[in-house]
Amino acid sequence: MTLAICFDDVTAAAARLRGHAHRTPVLRSATVDALTGAQVFFKAENFQRMGAFKFRGAFNALAQFSEAQRERGVIAFSSGNHAQAVALSARLLGMPSVIVMPQDAPALKVAATRGYQAGDARSEVILYDRYTQDREAIGRELAQSRGMTLIPPFDHPHVMAGQGTAALELFEQVAEQGADGADGHAVPPLDALLVCVGGGGLISGCATVAKHLNPAMQVYGVEPEAGNDTQQSLARGEIVRIATPRTIADGAQTEASGQLTFPVIQALVDGIVTVSDAELAKTMHLLAERMKIVVEPTGALAAAALLQAAPGLPDLRDQRVGVIISGGNVDLQRFAQLVSSVA
Ligand SMILES: *Cc1c(COP(=O)(O)O)cnc(C)c1O
Repeated sequence: MTLAICFDDVTAAAARLRGHAHRTPVLRSATVDALTGAQVFFKAENFQRMGAFKFRGAFNALAQFSEAQRERGVIAFSSGNHAQAVALSARLLGMPSVIVMPQDAPALKVAATRGYQAGDARSEVILYDRYTQDREAIGRELAQSRGMTLIPPFDHPHVMAGQGTAALELFEQVAEQGADGADGHAVPPLDALLVCVGGGGLISGCATVAKHLNPAMQVYGVEPEAGNDTQQSLARGEIVRIATPRTIADGAQTEASGQLTFPVIQALVDGIVTVSDAELAKTMHLLAERMKIVVEPTGALAAAALLQAAPGLPDLRDQRVGVIISGGNVDLQRFAQLVSSVA
């Protein structure tokens, strides 16, 4: 069976994103290296435009719209980072966007999305009641009546390829840092890569790049303990659907991986491990205190797995490990509450 994306799709996405997405920094921490015994390279997508890697996939998808599609615009359902990513990408590309969000979405997120739409009278946020209305039906109806193109948050080849550019950049940056090394020799590629998993868009793109450049690189996904649908799916050999998980990692509250992302995960990912909400809060605290960065709970999943040596991870001591920090969009009050819950 052929997979939805290949390495060339990611390099093509990187070319489309050039000059539009930020080349986010790769951060090191002597404290983290000492705690883990590894050499850790953090790809800081909390510094990406709109605050998360989601901009990469959304922009890559919208940039490939035909003239007719651009005219009509894009529609997305999301109360999270995908909403902001689509709204911002649409504005940059001069097309209208309609974002469908639940009525009880955080006011801050609704406001941020409307902010990205400002200046385009054709764009709007449509709120629905998640208890009485069917968002799929709302979306289909809108897509049909207005002729808009629906872009899903993860299960789309252009979205998956766009997200893979985060890993492509990380590997380039690690190689550049190595080239500055004292002996001037090329550094070995990373031994392992840790990536958070919601619907699997990010990890499918990143694993595609990792295994192409270095088939020996170990790629591990990280899910919240309460929402380990992908871990269950890998064990079962088919997509397992769970009830909406209760976790502070709101970006990974997906019920199932995608029809396109799961086969890529099955083929290329070495394993999935989980971390608890308490471990996430502890990791957010450490990243803030030691590295001075604000990371949202979902964004801390991969770092938490490494720092807590999550069961199922191989021994990563003396290894060169890439860790994707996926986003930094968290209400500051909530952030303060979470990091102060840590003893
Ligand atoms: C969407 C999101 C994820 C999960 O990404 P998938 O592609 O759905 O696996 C992780 N972290 C953040 C910050 C996100 O916004």
